[in-house]
Amino acid sequence: YEMQRMKKIIIDDELCIGCGACEGLAPDHFELKEDGKAHVKKQYSEEDKDIIEEAKDGCPEGAIEIKEEK
Ligand code: SF4
Repeated sequence: YEMQRMKKIIIDDELCIGCGACEGLAPDHFELKEDGKAHVKKQYSEEDKDIIEEAKDGCPEGAIEIKEEK
């Protein structure tokens, strides 16, 4: 049994263009706010990893990072 590393969703708001793709794919985890940028609504959870990865890969600006915490 290996300890699960903590993972964290990070959005670079310098890169985010507010296209809404991440929210469209994973509305539980991402939301667009009035500043026109995506924000993390709910942090990373293993049970939603596929949809979170999809949102990350689908970001046209590469603004979403899934960071493993040490
Ligand atoms: Fe921003 Fe990327 Fe989400 Fe589009 S998909 S709103 S660019 S973080």
